[in-house]
Amino acid sequence: MSENTQQFEYKAEMQQLLHLIINSLYTNQEIFLRELISNASDALNKARFQGLTDHSGGDHADLKITITVDKDAKTLSVEDTGIGMTQTDLTERLGTIASSGTLAFIEEQKSSGKPVDAGMIGQFGVGFYSAFMVADHIEIETLHRNDDAEPLTWTSDATGTYTIGPSTRSEPGTKITLHLKEDASEFSDDYRVRSIIRKYSNFVDFPIYLDSDQINTLKALWKKRKDDINDEELSEFYKFISGDYNDPLGHLHLQIEGLLTFDALLFIPSQAPLSFFREDRRSDLHLYSSGVFVRDDAEELLPEYLAFVRGVVDTDDLPLNVSREVTQNSPVTQRIRSTLTGKLLGLLDQWATEDVERYEKFFLNFGVALKTGLFSDQGKQDELLKLVRYPSTSGEHLTSLSDYVTRMPDSQESIYYLLSDSLESARKSPHLEVFTTKGIEVLLLTDPIDALTLPNVPKFEDKKFINITTAELDLTESTDSESLPGDEIDSLLTLFRVQLGDRVQDVTSSKRLVDSAATLVTAKDGMDPQLERMMKSMNPEYEGVKKVLEINASHPLMKNLLALKSSSENQGSLIEQTIEQIYEGALLLDGNLTEPSSFVSRMTSILVDATREPSSTS
Ligand code: ADP
Repeated sequence: MSENTQQFEYKAEMQQLLHLIINSLYTNQEIFLRELISNASDALNKARFQGLTDHSGGDHADLKITITVDKDAKTLSVEDTGIGMTQTDLTERLGTIASSGTLAFIEEQKSSGKPVDAGMIGQFGVGFYSAFMVADHIEIETLHRNDDAEPLTWTSDATGTYTIGPSTRSEPGTKITLHLKEDASEFSDDYRVRSIIRKYSNFVDFPIYLDSDQINTLKALWKKRKDDINDEELSEFYKFISGDYNDPLGHLHLQIEGLLTFDALLFIPSQAPLSFFREDRRSDLHLYSSGVFVRDDAEELLPEYLAFVRGVVDTDDLPLNVSREVTQNSPVTQRIRSTLTGKLLGLLDQWATEDVERYEKFFLNFGVALKTGLFSDQGKQDELLKLVRYPSTSGEHLTSLSDYVTRMPDSQESIYYLLSDSLESARKSPHLEVFTTKGIEVLLLTDPIDALTLPNVPKFEDKKFINITTAELDLTESTDSESLPGDEIDSLLTLFRVQLGDRVQDVTSSKRLVDSAATLVTAKDGMDPQLERMMKSMNPEYEGVKKVLEINASHPLMKNLLALKSSSENQGSLIEQTIEQIYEGALLLDGNLTEPSSFVSRMTSILVDATREPSSTS
């Protein structure tokens, strides 16, 4: 120790923290390198800023980070040509814990028996000290850029004291040398260090050299002018961050300045990743703070219904060392999120109008996700309604709501839809008959999510949405061309009501059926069959809400039933069987027939009667 070297004691809290760092952080130790590079990058940013403001920051070309490893000496050093540190910096800033809760948090984690991930260290503003996870002795040589600054050496072996003395450093900046612990010698391995740098600092704004090779060749792409970026670069970058091997379907490059400053380079994949619909799906949104990688799962920056978007958001307004909890609730995050959402919906809208083929491809992959926004983000409902697409009775293609409205005849006031679990069964639904006859288009909603979204949307362009399976459906004029006289309909209804009892809420004469004999409709305030089926699948005990059976009074079967009733022979059991069959057939079409066996055996016995040879009848 030179005579000018002084020894200092760490504050008690710092000593405890060092003890914890050294003795309890074993997972994810490589994070220390990110912290050191991040500090170096901060110092370079300050030098750059100072240089820009008072011309003392030196030549831009000099601003760089140099990392050196020595396998034999088991050392690793990180050197920057940044702002440097004064004696006060070394004693006051380097030697204190920024966040007061840090110690308590780590203690608590440790005593609860949970493994303490070193990745957490970055959240608490003790970045530099994470180097003591891998080093038992650290040396700093630094020279501040102030004119009167003296070069200084700082050393510590984390035992409770550190020293500060003179140094021979002549260049402004800081060199930090780690003498690695026995079990951390991997961090003096060129290859290992290279890969860590690539992982965490690939887009740092300053060149990072390792053994005279520049490692971070992929320079912050999102910082470049849009015109200076070509498709190949974009695609390469997308693949690099997403691990996807397909080209993206499209991208959005934002450079926002003003109250909020951030850059974003976002991509829409051309295919949903396999994990996309799984619970444990990870978001692939990388958050950078001033060019320094923070996290690769910053899902809080986008609403859930846009979670398929991947890319990078780089902001100067969120500090690097903040926890996810803090980021989630910060107003900065809320504002970034709202800007990103608006811009992304704008891009999709542009595709939808100008690049239909691309939009259809997008919707096929991510339409279901987008639809969930209809209930989770009421504020964006109007924009989302413009973007959703549905199959309809008007053709094989998906239709937008505005195209549907354009096709509506003047007399039509509402948008009609049918919920079903497959397009095939939707197209066969008896509910469609009157619409087909009248030439009215119906949307066929077959995604499970549809039952939860569209019924909760009040209107589109002032048009109400109407579920065609609801009982109040009134298409002004009825279609009863050859219907039965009123009193005969009444006695028919009575026949059904007596037979079905409280299995249905009521039996009424239908205005919607043309070819089918009967259908079940949802009573006012009732539940759609599709939704009811979902409820039942979640809870087998669930009984559902009773339906109204609508019968088609112009159907030949109804006339035959009346004739049977007034015939002299006792046909009671055939009438009963027919009514049961009509009712269960309607249940079957709704997908709600739980015991098909009685339906089938009844059908068999009716067929036996019908196919009996005339001679054998008495
Ligand atoms: P944080 O970076 O979260 O503030 P650290 O413990 O990593 O916490 O660093 C503490 C302080 O030490 C920094 O705020 C900075 O003032 C100073 N410092 C650390 N590394 C450097 C460096 N390479 N150059 C200049 N100052 C540095």
